[in-house]
Parts: sequence; structure tokens; C-alpha cells
Amino acid sequence: MQLYNKLSAKERETLLEQAGEERLTLSFYQYARIGNPHLFRNHLFVTWHEQDVLGRIYVAHEGINAQLSVPAIRFKEFKEFLDGIYFLKDVRLNIAIEQDLKSFLKLKVKVRDKIVADGLNDETFDVTNKGIHVDAQKFNELIEDPDVVLVDMRNHYESEIGHFKNAVTPDVDTFRDSLDIIEADLKDHKEDKKLVMYCTGGIRCEKASAYYKHKGFKNVFQLEGGIIEYARQVENQGLENKFIGKNFVFDHRRGERITEDVISNCHQCGEACDTHTNCANEACHLLFIQCDKCAVAMENCCSEECIEIIHLPYEEQKRLRQGIPNSNKIFKKGRSEKLKFKRPPSPQRGN
Ligand SMILES: [Zn+2]
Ligand SMILES: [Zn+2]
Repeated sequence: MQLYNKLSAKERETLLEQAGEERLTLSFYQYARIGNPHLFRNHLFVTWHEQDVLGRIYVAHEGINAQLSVPAIRFKEFKEFLDGIYFLKDVRLNIAIEQDLKSFLKLKVKVRDKIVADGLNDETFDVTNKGIHVDAQKFNELIEDPDVVLVDMRNHYESEIGHFKNAVTPDVDTFRDSLDIIEADLKDHKEDKKLVMYCTGGIRCEKASAYYKHKGFKNVFQLEGGIIEYARQVENQGLENKFIGKNFVFDHRRGERITEDVISNCHQCGEACDTHTNCANEACHLLFIQCDKCAVAMENCCSEECIEIIHLPYEEQKRLRQGIPNSNKIFKKGRSEKLKFKRPPSPQRGN
């Protein structure tokens, strides 16, 4: 359990003061052995429902992954409840800079096989044998070291709108693909290079770092609390910010702006833009970047075909959707031949 680097009592006080009657958007995760995830799920649901917590929470035998919002005035109660669960006592809470009342509309607590869909066979390595955690200040120093290889462990559509300067951003659709590509690229440097990883909130690196240690890497580091925590520390401690652009997040905001730099382009016209949207055709729901002008011209769709479909009567659209694989899979890909300014997937390396 990391006791360092959690929100101090004073920081929390300031935050609650700022929030007033509003809600706090926060996330946390913990790897732990949970014997009966269903029972645990019910316990969380009943309590959080009562506390007016909203959000999306996954529970599995391997732990918990939660993104939620809490009324600021009930935060104390919420925190005491967490501290009463032995593996969540003093768990680090990532609190988003941008407070938004609409971050979550419902409370959903789901039991899953895993808290992160990582495609890894956990039996082969020890998840708790993780890399060295570094805070923002140490991270800033570390990534200036010429022996460091800095790797963005997120997917292509996330790093596209924002990443750390000089980071390797694998052009991948899944976490599993990233692991193999990085390993293949660094196979001759497992001992002399320092592998430094980051992701949104730290959860993916937690497992990746254990995986790479298992694969023989000697110097494995991860950014504690991910980009969310980094942004908070940089702001609070007045450190140099080495992240550029937006941090992609999985709630309705799609991204949290860290700097004013716009590093990506509208996938339809090529203009500088970093606003993600989902295609208005429900059967498509493709995740892509679209500027305001194109949104109007294309009626929030990704293609002419999708515009045609949204103009059909709703019943007809429903009929067409039958038998089409679910839109979630398309969401994860975030690519389409129809988008002029989106890179096609690179050939997969590794094995
Ligand atoms: Zn455009
Ligand atoms: Zn579409």
C-alpha cells in the first residue's frame, strides 16, 4: 500500500472548499484478492447509492477500478467508507482538475473477469511485483536521462490528442499489442535502458511494469497515478509541465485539457483539432476527431453513408442494425477507411 503521494488533508480541504455544493469527479483502482466480487459489488452499490455517488465501477477477483463523482459535502463520508475496507484504506484518489457536474449520470457497479481488459494470462507472472513508482518531480528528472525510453501505454486514439514530449506512442488498438511491440523494440536493452511508462491513471502501467519485470527488464518505472495525478502535482507544486495537449478520458468529456497545444487534426478536413466525437449513426458510433465545421457539414457523421442512414426513419435504422457487431468494438478501434486524415493501422510487429 502506498501511503506517500496521496492527497494531503490540507489539499483535500482546499479542494472541498473550492467545490462548495458541487460534485467531485474522481477515480481510483486497486489490485487486491477479492474472494466474492458479487458480494463486494452489492456492498458498494448499496452504500454509494445512499451517498448519491454516480459513476462506472468495475469489480473483479483481481481488484477494483472506479471512476465516479461524489457530492462534495458527502466526501468525508465517502472517504471513511473506503478507509473501512482494508485494501482501500488510504488508496490514492485521482481527482480531476476539471470539475463537471455531468461527468456521470448513473451509478453502475459491474462484476467483470478483470478490472482492465488486458489480454494477459495472469498465472504467468506476479502482478504485485511492480515497477518503481515515481511522482511528477522525479518523473520530470528521469525523462531527461538519455538512457530512458519513455513509453505511452495507452491506445492510438488517446496519445493522438496529447502525450509527453519525446514519448514513444505505439500505434496500437489494444494494450496487449503495445506490450509486444515495446518488448520487441527493446529486446537488446533489457538491462541497460530504463523503461519509463505512463498511462491515464496508472492502472495499465501497474500491470505492464510487472509484466516487463517478468520478461527480464531490469529498470522499470511508472508514473504514479498517471497523467491525471501528474497534472495535479505539476499545478500544485509549480513544476514544469512536460505533457502537451489533452488527456483522453473515458467519460462524456472525452478529454481533459492539460495545455493549450492542439497536436492532432480533424480526421475529415485536416485542420488542427483535438475534439473527439462519436459518429451520430448509432450503428456506426465510430470514435473520431471532428472539427466544428465538419460537424455541421457532415451532420455529426463520419461518412456520407452514415448521413444517409440517419436520414432514414428510426424503425428502418433499427432493422439495418440487426446482425451488425456491437458498436463497442468499433469504438475501441477509432479508425476508418472513410476518414481522409486518420492514419491507417501500422503493420503489427512482435508476436
Ligand atoms: Zn474538419
Ligand atoms: Zn459513421
